[in-house]
Amino acid sequence: MTENHRSKSSPEAQDVVGVVDELLQKAVACGASDVHFEPTGSDLKVKYRLDGVLSPVESLPAAVADNVVARLKVLGGLLTYRNDIPQEGRLELDGKASGKVTDVRLAVFPTIYGQRAVVRLFYCNEELMALEHLGFAAQIESRLKTIAAQNQGVLLLTGPAGSGKSTTLAALLRYIVRTLPGKSIVTLEDPVEIRVDGATQVPITPHGQMTFPTALRSLLRQDPQVLMIGEIRDAETARIAIEAGLTGHLLMSTMHSGSPAGALLRLLEMGIEPYQVTSSVSAVVNQRLIRRLCDGCKRMGPGGEFEPVGCDACLGTGFCGRTLITEMVQLDSDLRKSLLAKADLDTLEVLLRDKGHATMLTDGKRLVEAGVTTQDELEKVCGADRIT
Ligand SMILES: [Zn+2]
Repeated sequence: MTENHRSKSSPEAQDVVGVVDELLQKAVACGASDVHFEPTGSDLKVKYRLDGVLSPVESLPAAVADNVVARLKVLGGLLTYRNDIPQEGRLELDGKASGKVTDVRLAVFPTIYGQRAVVRLFYCNEELMALEHLGFAAQIESRLKTIAAQNQGVLLLTGPAGSGKSTTLAALLRYIVRTLPGKSIVTLEDPVEIRVDGATQVPITPHGQMTFPTALRSLLRQDPQVLMIGEIRDAETARIAIEAGLTGHLLMSTMHSGSPAGALLRLLEMGIEPYQVTSSVSAVVNQRLIRRLCDGCKRMGPGGEFEPVGCDACLGTGFCGRTLITEMVQLDSDLRKSLLAKADLDTLEVLLRDKGHATMLTDGKRLVEAGVTTQDELEKVCGADRIT
């Protein structure tokens, strides 16, 4: 890991402008999703989040820490004289970086060592536009396309925050726009993360008038054929969403859950009747993002599997970019029967295992064998939240 220490003499004010600019441009150039500015008392640590992992890139002298954060606050239109409250804003990037980036958000937070700032970068990633480029196993991709062409039903995506669910939903919507032109598509999102040409995207303000349930109820009167809801978080949204899926709308959404069976049970916990779940939900897709080995430096290890090394191109991490591992559960008669009988999570998991359900781990093994990622990465990604 390289950590370039700048000279400890305080840069002049104009240097701070240049330093901040350079750090942001460099972050965009290597595709970082976040830039962290963390005051420690002895310095201001700058870290990039690359492929989900935070890596230190710079240590700036403590003497300029306040100036650096102040510069960010100016760029983000925040109150520079308020250092005692959290603030959030947006900033514009200049220069060549701006073309690739669709949105830049800034959040500052007071700590005992001064203010901490995080800049979040959102990219317009052409490669991720198409469903075919996300990395789904062929069988799951073709089943998803079949579901996307249906006129009703509910497709649920699960996985923790940052597992690429929004990208998958956007790709599914684009697929529908492309293959079924003329369908009316409406999305409700908090906030709208990825623009989809051909869909009407509505931002939700959870603490305002436009909540998921109120927006959803009035939208259904607009007669959309395809509805995407950013996330089903509460019982009321769940109820309206399931009803929509039962009454001639194709509804897609995400839920927080570690597994497909968990998502189905979550709907029951939210008060949805089992028969409504079994008659509306077409499938649940569970997904995670897994780091790809850097093609520039990976090497064959003694065990016959590729391992990470680290080079300049991957900032010494040995990994470059991410891909998907997924599992998909479609409701068949056995699963429906178990849900109607109010089976618990263990029973559902055992049922799926006995039916030969291909888990995310199975999907990931295909990537390990192909030298795309490592067994360690796979275990790290699947390990924490999966019943095996
Ligand atoms: Zn490398």
